[in-house]
Amino acid sequence: MDKIILKEITILYVEDEEDLRMNTSKILSVTSKKIIQATNGLEAYELFVANQDSIDLVVTDINIPKMSGLSLIEKIHEINSDMPCVITTAYNELEFLHRAINLGVVGFVLKPLDLYKLIETCIKAVTPSMLRKELIRKNEELTKLNQELEKRVAERTKELEILANTDPLTGISNRRDFFNKASILFDSAKGSIFASMLDLDKFKTLNDTYGHSFGDIVLKKVTSYVRSFLRSQDIFGRIGGEEFAILCECESLELFMLKMEQVRQEVSQLEFENNGSKIHITISFGMAQREADEDIDSLLVRADDALYEAKESGRNKVIFRNRLNL
Ligand code: GH3
Ligand code: MG
Ligand code: MG
Ligand code: MG
Repeated sequence: MDKIILKEITILYVEDEEDLRMNTSKILSVTSKKIIQATNGLEAYELFVANQDSIDLVVTDINIPKMSGLSLIEKIHEINSDMPCVITTAYNELEFLHRAINLGVVGFVLKPLDLYKLIETCIKAVTPSMLRKELIRKNEELTKLNQELEKRVAERTKELEILANTDPLTGISNRRDFFNKASILFDSAKGSIFASMLDLDKFKTLNDTYGHSFGDIVLKKVTSYVRSFLRSQDIFGRIGGEEFAILCECESLELFMLKMEQVRQEVSQLEFENNGSKIHITISFGMAQREADEDIDSLLVRADDALYEAKESGRNKVIFRNRLNL
């Protein structure tokens, strides 16, 4: 550590001799950030209390009015036991030095003041606490950086998780997410669980007639429309090209069928436009209700059978399949 350290510190300088105080302050103010001057112990104490967050070092004469320099140091150390204090004095009796050391004074300079010696003593006195402050500051910086990094990693992980679980075209659950959510629902559901497989009717023809990118637009619009009929806890996923599945807990089969029927009808009334042509799309639905302890694959196979039946019997319809139909 060298003189640079003084550049960053604020010194409370206490001296009752006017000329000495002015001259010393002038020199110290060249080497330090700021000098706060006091002419007596009481004023010094009040200035310390008011500026304790910015003061880094106390330099005080021993023999000052209203409160001695040593009493001042004692009171300052009651507030901040780490505050480095340096004394300037005309006395050099052992008895006084002994008390000063006991008070934790870290340096002293005899009068008449040798300013070079004073600066050197100030540097020595303030170095440990400045190093400590620097260490604390660096540590805080590091902690902050670490927290920011952790936050960014968490955000990125969340983004990646969403990406890994989302179908990029439609923004709904992909196959993987659908099955993950299904297993959570199977474990937690108290009531009946229903599955519905949805397949867009004659979608290949739509693609062939109006182009694949128009087909994409239709897929996006239809999925967001279907999603708007569902509750947030209902699971809706794209499990194949233009095949989707809905899984939800519902009070009764009638209610679930009614809901699917409503979705079917509303989608069939959607109107798309392509180069002036008005286009409609329909969906076929195959539904099944989960039997006790039935797994998701078996439930979806039954729903798929019902969907096949819906296709075979003319499309644009909702068919329910229970175990007895197998
Ligand atoms: P059906 O009524 O029997 O279901 O007839 P379909 O034409 O819908 O059935 P098919 O399985 O023959 O065709 C499905 C089509 O869906 C073929 C495929 O190109 C199209 N498709 C699958 N994924 C996408 C996609 O992401 N975008 C577009 N535009 N088309 C897709
Ligand atoms: Mg004095
Ligand atoms: Mg189809
Ligand atoms: Mg299909």
